[in-house]
Amino acid sequence: MTKKTIALLLTALLLCSVSASAETRSRWAHSYRFGSRDEPRVAITVDDWIHPDEWLAEFLAVAEEYNVKMTLYPSGYALKAEDRELWQAALDAGHVIGCHFFQHKRLTQSSQAAVKRDLEKYQKALDETLGYHYEFLTVRPPFGAGLSTGGGSTVGRWIHNAGFDHIVLWDMDNTSNLQKALNTIKNGSIILMHANHHDLVFFRNLMEALKDRNYEYVTINELLGITSRYYYVDE
Ligand SMILES: [Zn+2]
Repeated sequence: MTKKTIALLLTALLLCSVSASAETRSRWAHSYRFGSRDEPRVAITVDDWIHPDEWLAEFLAVAEEYNVKMTLYPSGYALKAEDRELWQAALDAGHVIGCHFFQHKRLTQSSQAAVKRDLEKYQKALDETLGYHYEFLTVRPPFGAGLSTGGGSTVGRWIHNAGFDHIVLWDMDNTSNLQKALNTIKNGSIILMHANHHDLVFFRNLMEALKDRNYEYVTINELLGITSRYYYVDE
C-alpha cells in the first residue's frame, strides 16, 4: 500500500466516524402520548394479557375484521410458552409486542437496578414464550406511573439507563363511554385498552363507530416511526 492509499483510507475512516456521530443517542428517554396530528393514523394498544388464552384470539379476530395492526403490551409474568401459538399468530398477522414490564407494579416505587432487572426478566420471558429472541422496541410502564413530567423524569432516566428510550403512554383510555371516546380520538391518537371482555366488546363497537373516518390503524412503531430501542437526536 502506498502512503497516498493509506492517507485516503484514513480520511475515509474519519469521514465515516464523523457522519455516524451526526446522530447521537438522546440523554433521556422520550415519552409519547400521540403521534402526528396531520395524518389519519391511529394506534390501538392493548395491555396486561393476564389470560391471553381467553382473549387474544378474539382480539385478533376483531383486528382482522377491521384491518387493525395492534401493539400488544403483555406483563412478563403472564407470558407462558403454552401460549406460544397464540402470540406467534399475532406476530404473523402483523401485530407487534411491546413491554409492559415483568411485574405489574408502579415504577415510582422501584429503583434503577430493579428496573433494569425487570426489563431483562421481561425479555427472557418473552423469548422463552416465543422460542426465539424478539426485539421489542417500546416500553409502557404499568399505570404510566412516574412519567407525568416525561422521559426526563427519574423513572424515565432509569428506563433510558436500562437501554430503552421509547416510552409509550396514551391520549385515550376511556373504554366505558363510546361517545366520549369518539370525541377524544383524533389523528395520531394512541388508544389504550386492556385484554378483558369489556374492552373486547368496546373494541368492536369502536371500530364500527369509527368506520367513516377512514383511519389507518397502525402499530406504535409505525405511528411513531420507531426502528430501534434508542431515541436519536441530531447534533
Ligand atoms: Zn397494565
